[in-house]
Amino acid sequence: MTNYAVVIAGGGPTGLMLACELALAGIDVAIVERRASQDLAGSRAGGLHSRTIEVLDQRGIAGRFLSQGQVHKAVRFHIPLDISDFPTRHNYVLALRQNHIERILAGWAGELGVPIHRQREVTGFAQDDTGVYVELSDGNSLRAEYLVGCDGGRSAIRKAAGIEFPGWDPTTSWLIAEAEMSEEPAWGFRRDALGTHALGKLEDGRRVSLVLTEQGVGARSEPTLRDVSEALIAIYGTDYGIHSPTWISRFTDMARHAAAYRDRRVLLAGDAAHVHPPVGGQGLNIGVQDAVNLGWKLAQVVKGTSPGTLLDTYHAERHPIAARVLRNTMAQVALRRPDDRTKALGETVSELLGMDEPRRRIAAEMSGLDVHYDLGEGHPLLGRRMPDLDLVTATGSLRVFTFLHDARPVFLNLGEPGGFDITSEESRKTDAVSSAPPEEPANSLFCPAARIRALCAPWVDRVAVIDAKYAGKWELPVIGVIPAPTAILIRPDGYVAWTGDPTQQGLADALTTWFGPPTARPFP
Ligand SMILES: Cc1cc2nc3c(=O)[nH]c(=O)nc-3n(C[C@H](O)[C@H](O)[C@H](O)COP(=O)(O)OP(=O)(O)OC[C@H]3O[C@@H](n4cnc5c(N)ncnc54)[C@H](O)[C@@H]3O)c2cc1C
Repeated sequence: MTNYAVVIAGGGPTGLMLACELALAGIDVAIVERRASQDLAGSRAGGLHSRTIEVLDQRGIAGRFLSQGQVHKAVRFHIPLDISDFPTRHNYVLALRQNHIERILAGWAGELGVPIHRQREVTGFAQDDTGVYVELSDGNSLRAEYLVGCDGGRSAIRKAAGIEFPGWDPTTSWLIAEAEMSEEPAWGFRRDALGTHALGKLEDGRRVSLVLTEQGVGARSEPTLRDVSEALIAIYGTDYGIHSPTWISRFTDMARHAAAYRDRRVLLAGDAAHVHPPVGGQGLNIGVQDAVNLGWKLAQVVKGTSPGTLLDTYHAERHPIAARVLRNTMAQVALRRPDDRTKALGETVSELLGMDEPRRRIAAEMSGLDVHYDLGEGHPLLGRRMPDLDLVTATGSLRVFTFLHDARPVFLNLGEPGGFDITSEESRKTDAVSSAPPEEPANSLFCPAARIRALCAPWVDRVAVIDAKYAGKWELPVIGVIPAPTAILIRPDGYVAWTGDPTQQGLADALTTWFGPPTARPFP
């Protein structure tokens, strides 16, 4: 039996991203994936939102995606909402098909040496206090300290763990297909008494991508070319000579949400934890962001630097995010209903979204830029994404995201310089790691740099401590201009864990909460 620290069931976007996050942290991780290759039947997701591009940028790989997609300046909630005025480097949507996104992520996983056991399924598991036995479809089993189900909406892991998946049954069903047509179809959207239908050109310029609202819900059999042809004739009066389909499928507006993202040593992420209709293009995006929230926490627990309870913050932080996505997708589906009253509601919503404040609020939600983890009261940055500012450091001008490339936490000292420099690995090593809890340094009350040095010393093996200056404006999406902080503790996922004046209390508590206690006491 092969042992790994973490086994991930499913190598879709969520599983690949999580594996890379764990590999970056030096964790022995493997993926078990049903598919023989990364090839995907059908297009599925069509792009990346701002926050997802930011998290990829935090790891230094955003360029790989940007070079392959097209930029659009609007997100969509009922109508297009311009986000080009948002304070982020990535104030746009990147149109890029899921097969490309997965190919690029799989390439990165390969570079990081993540083994992918292909053409095998996880069929079950048994967990005890020390780990999980993972059963595979080829009769073999794996042993892991943790198992993460990234195995999609029908997750076998979620079911085997007995985690409830409550939600809303479908009210509408759509046929989706990619095929050739011998006649030129009526491109674009069409609305009728059934709902909205769409015909568009695929990347190859030859095949047609079509989405057709169905007559009813609840069809149990897999859709066929004949079903698509009949639906086209019912809507357009012709099937345009549809032939040679490469993908025919069906999706609905069913929305469901796992009641818990964790059962002891088993966790869920991505579609395994939440499913909803694809309006607004958010599923893949929040799956990748689940992975980035979970990866560093799981790595620390596996290394024994943090207790297992750190994993509970994964559910606490990410469950509300998916709950909001379920809500906004349900609202968008409701707004598409073809009756006159819904049309009137839709026109009213469009008018509201034409105003600046509602546009900014909803667009920030769709793009993921307004994520706010509840880390208590304090500076507006607390629990929010750290903006990618251009900092002045001892080694020159550097972007904040540069410091997050290796997925380590960062303490940014923006006040009096203390001689901390990220590019100096030596400073990390020579800043001796104390085994004692931090003490109030003598005569340091008026010397913030000395206090930072003393406070951070027990964590310098885990946290990069950097002096930097930033003279520009501090601005957050929707919130606007905020007061400049004097010091910031940034988690590996790019969210601010603590901010304030290092001469005040709280920093040691935040370091302990997020990155483990000061003494190098391994947790079992
Ligand atoms: C028509 C459509 C359009 C969409 N458009 C968008 C969009 O524009 N934007 C967006 O963000 N999202 C979109 N989505 C949603 C997006 O495709 C999903 O949210 C995303 O694929 C979820 O990624 P995942 O890795 O969590 O799950 P999946 O992509 O489902 O990956 C799960 C993986 O697990 C494997 N697997 C399953 N069971 C097992 C097992 N037991 N053992 C081993 N392997 C297993 C599967 O083969 C698969 O590779 C769309 C979805 C559809 C259907």
